[in-house]
Amino acid sequence: MKEENCIFCKIANGEIPSKTIYEDEEFRVILDLAPAAKGHALILPKNHYSNLFQLPEEKAKNAIVLAKKLGARMVEKLNADGFNLMQNNGEAAGQTVFHFHMHLIPRYKDDNQKINWEPGTPTGEELEEIQKQIVE
Ligand code: AMP
Ligand code: ZN
Repeated sequence: MKEENCIFCKIANGEIPSKTIYEDEEFRVILDLAPAAKGHALILPKNHYSNLFQLPEEKAKNAIVLAKKLGARMVEKLNADGFNLMQNNGEAAGQTVFHFHMHLIPRYKDDNQKINWEPGTPTGEELEEIQKQIVE
């Protein structure tokens, strides 16, 4: 399940070299070339799934367990103070490479990095309406 012109398929399967920090049968984890912080890593399944909707549940579970393990390693080996686990799902959400990946971004006190959003100010009624839309 590889896709011909997908750069992450090629990286995940070793056809294009990368700075790999972890590999098993299902995943390769590489350092991001344009890191938000020291140690910013990308968890790539070796098979091609364009986004989270395509990713089988078993792989999704394994990806989170792996993120937990590697997050702990970032804390231990890089002295990170925490980490962000992110997945941009769809173009509107900022996804630029359409091979599922999770960002594991170690964070450091005073790293001054911004992984933020502008907080909204919905009324109670608006929240209730949204709640209804989603639940019903
Ligand atoms: P996203 O915007 O969530 O699709 O993230 C794509 C990420 O892939 C960005 O953080 C890029 O810096 C990173 N990236 C793109 N090409 C490469 C590459 N060849 N090696 C490592 N990271 C890459
Ligand atoms: Zn791919």
